[in-house]
Amino acid sequence: MWQFETEISEVVNRTPGVKSFRFAKKERKLPYRAGQFFYVTLKINGRNNVHHFSFSSSPTQTDYIEFTKRITDSEYSGALSRARAGTWAEIEGPEGAFALPAKPAKLAFLCGGIGITPVRSMLCYVKDRKLAHDCTLLFGNRDRDNIIFKAELETLELNSNIRIHHFLAEAKAVDSVNVHPGLIDQDAIVNLIPDYAQRLFYLSGPPSMVQALYSQIQSLGLPARQIKYDIFTGYR
Ligand SMILES: Cc1cc2nc3c(=O)[nH]c(=O)nc-3n(C[C@H](O)[C@H](O)[C@H](O)COP(=O)(O)OP(=O)(O)OC[C@H]3O[C@@H](n4cnc5c(N)ncnc54)[C@H](O)[C@@H]3O)c2cc1C
Repeated sequence: MWQFETEISEVVNRTPGVKSFRFAKKERKLPYRAGQFFYVTLKINGRNNVHHFSFSSSPTQTDYIEFTKRITDSEYSGALSRARAGTWAEIEGPEGAFALPAKPAKLAFLCGGIGITPVRSMLCYVKDRKLAHDCTLLFGNRDRDNIIFKAELETLELNSNIRIHHFLAEAKAVDSVNVHPGLIDQDAIVNLIPDYAQRLFYLSGPPSMVQALYSQIQSLGLPARQIKYDIFTGYR
């Protein structure tokens, strides 16, 4: 575990209302596994306020660690909107078992919106380390403009062991074979991941989405040991 006071080194705008915040590693190692999370304390009106976030960076990124947050109307989000390079923070981590298996395996990732953060970390790690893990991602968003890490996901898809399908809730029609209108559901899982029974599933996103997809996967006959999940509390 590591824990220390530091400062934000960079803020990156992602999509409308979503920003990434980086902490330079400097000469620190800051070990973590792709998909884990860490704690970020900010000082707000003289009081410490702590939230936890998945690493959206991959351990292969040597210069910094990063988290990515949807900016809501919360006090904590307000502080993040005002944050700049140099803003004080305390960070502590890593934690969590939402991480890649050590040996090559068949994986399926089902994400909604901001739930992409730990999966971005894992897919970047698979690509950078040239791992043989076979990955299919179904990623749900409202529309194209709200796809976080869109350009980077397009680059990841160039790897033969990474397949990505987008689901756009507000789209009536779509113009690409890997973009689908509507929500991720059981039919989508069966049709797009025909070998689903052999895969380890990772669900991440708002509580309602994760709970709904968990039940649907269970009703396909998958045992609990084949389903990992990260419930992003605080979002609907
Ligand atoms: C493992 C994990 C990884 C996460 N990773 C990310 C990430 O990468 N990016 C991201 O944006 N968010 C992530 N979250 C969610 C994040 O921790 C915050 O809860 C979320 O950002 C909402 O914060 P807020 O400041 O917008 O709203 P808040 O005002 O803090 O919360 C909104 C509502 O949610 C409730 N709530 C907040 N936190 C919790 C909690 N821990 N348990 C129960 N209720 C709670 C509050 O009581 C409030 O009613 C993650 C959560 C978990 C559990």
